[in-house]
Amino acid sequence: MKPLRKREDEEWMHLVGDAVTSPADLRLKFGDKMRGLDSVTERFPMRVNSYYLSLIEKAGDSIFRQCIPDSRELSDEGLIDPLEEEEHSPVPGLTHRYPDRVLFLVSSRCAVYCRFCNRRRKVGRPDVVTPETIREGLAYIRANKDIRDVLLSGGDPLLLSDKELFRILTDLRAIPHVEIIRIGSRVPCTLPQRITPGLAEMLKGFHPLYINAHFNHPRELTCEAAAACSRLADAGIPLGCQTVLLKGVNDDPFVMKSLMQGLLKMRAKPYYLFQPDLVKGTSHFWTPLERGLEIMDAVQGHASGMCLPHFAVDLPHGGGKVPFLPNYVEEKKDNGLVLRTFEQKRHFYPLFCLGKGDLND
Ligand SMILES: *Cc1c(COP(=O)(O)O)cnc(C)c1O
Repeated sequence: MKPLRKREDEEWMHLVGDAVTSPADLRLKFGDKMRGLDSVTERFPMRVNSYYLSLIEKAGDSIFRQCIPDSRELSDEGLIDPLEEEEHSPVPGLTHRYPDRVLFLVSSRCAVYCRFCNRRRKVGRPDVVTPETIREGLAYIRANKDIRDVLLSGGDPLLLSDKELFRILTDLRAIPHVEIIRIGSRVPCTLPQRITPGLAEMLKGFHPLYINAHFNHPRELTCEAAAACSRLADAGIPLGCQTVLLKGVNDDPFVMKSLMQGLLKMRAKPYYLFQPDLVKGTSHFWTPLERGLEIMDAVQGHASGMCLPHFAVDLPHGGGKVPFLPNYVEEKKDNGLVLRTFEQKRHFYPLFCLGKGDLND
């Protein structure tokens, strides 16, 4: 007999099962824009569920661009695995790049396949994460006492069933040196229905547990998404957000400020803003580094510091993440710095102990 689904799981499971996976299925909705995309989806699978699809207001908007295939994905620019996650993988599906933390892939599925995904070489392929790779990953973590922080990723870890996730979290929590567990998930944005009371209740047993969501546009901050975030926050889970800077989606100071302020209202603290990775098939989303700095500069001071993420680049060839800040130093003098304020004024700040007259420059 098939095990009975819990009733609260029916809605999200239905949304996952019923997702659009072929451009032709959207011909009625978006017309000729959907033609000639089969060669794209043969290379990079498509999946959009009806919830996320319903956020599209018109073809070509910020939601459309994130989830609908585009012929420019066939461009040869970029690298297959720019972060060289494979090279830093002691066992398949686990990347150990920093001394005290690892990235552990526990699912290869997502609720929506983002067109800018930096792990698109892997998502949607059933052979990438298997019970065997999960066992090996756990064994690696168990054997390496330096690992105090495990970052579950994928695919989307929250597309696992409560039971599968419970199993993995229980095994991790049984390892004494694992102090922090983090889950990176796009589900609060692309399938908020997945955040059921049962899931929140189960996750509560594994603190300290952090969830980093992934929202890229203020129009993704719906009532459903807010309810999902509330449920997780009420379960005591601190929420962060890892946003990707994307040309034509959110490369605009007003859009970014409204996203960051909206996230904070939903109790998710903006954590990272990533410069897009140089992944093959995503070059139409790339923005110059300067653009990200301009956007950070436009938000800083005009919105609470709580809204400000770290703007970072994940370096090609596996160098790790490097943070960037706009330049606030206008001039260096022998006794101090001339700094630029958020109102574009110049202020002197002394380098050494305050003495008489120092503040006058
Ligand atoms: C991003 C990342 C982490 C986590 O980095 P934090 O700055 O601690 O959030 C860990 N491992 C890998 C391989 C990563 O890419």
